[in-house]
Amino acid sequence: MKKTLTNERKERLAALLQLSHELGNPARPLSILGEGNTSTRLTHETFLVKASGSSLGSLGKQDVVECKAGVLLPLLDKTGPSDKEVDGALMESRVDAGAKKPSVEALFHAWLLTLPGIEFVGHTHAPSVNGVLCSPRAREFAEKRVFPDEIVCCDVESVFVPYTDPGLRLAQVIREETEAFIRKHGRPPRVVLLESHGIITIGRTTEAVLAAMLMAEKAAAIWLGAAALGGPSFLTEETKARIANRPDEAVRRNALKL
Ligand SMILES: [Zn+2]
Repeated sequence: MKKTLTNERKERLAALLQLSHELGNPARPLSILGEGNTSTRLTHETFLVKASGSSLGSLGKQDVVECKAGVLLPLLDKTGPSDKEVDGALMESRVDAGAKKPSVEALFHAWLLTLPGIEFVGHTHAPSVNGVLCSPRAREFAEKRVFPDEIVCCDVESVFVPYTDPGLRLAQVIREETEAFIRKHGRPPRVVLLESHGIITIGRTTEAVLAAMLMAEKAAAIWLGAAALGGPSFLTEETKARIANRPDEAVRRNALKL
């Protein structure tokens, strides 16, 4: 029994490191320097998250912190705790008191990992996505779709989070907007877009998180190109629903572990 748990733990850590290296790969500059972070659910009570100040591309196991979700989640119901209190909770949430400080973005990771079927979370400041999110058309990018594979990997719509101070307040607004998405669609989103900040992708596998990230970045690059030509042209609501529900697309999603 104990051996199984240890193996599961090792596999989770290895998967998280691999996802981090993919997202921090300098060949596709989704995140540079210490930007972005990743996490995975570990046990019922704990999760692994990137330590503050470490780089995704070279993340090692010493840069990953195991945190107790039960210490962080109650903060989301509080109004106005000081930065010092939030920092204190982040340090207190560590299972190993010798571990590094978790990223302040651990707060939204903790909450997103409570969603049904969500095992991995990735967050980057992808350049084309931010090209759109730092423009007046940011919300439109969340609501509309330009080609079928964008729907396969990123769903018919993304959560849109208007610019919010990073840290606790951002985690609270992500929760509000994601809960609204779940009420509307009856399922968790694949993509959460943060105005003038970046993108979060979530899923049951590392493949799903990476696919949504890369496809959103590709869609944003297409947007930027199409905008220069008077576009983009958008898929209709009917087409979006058709792609989302096609049985062959469901088979493809399964084969790709999305
Ligand atoms: Zn960020």
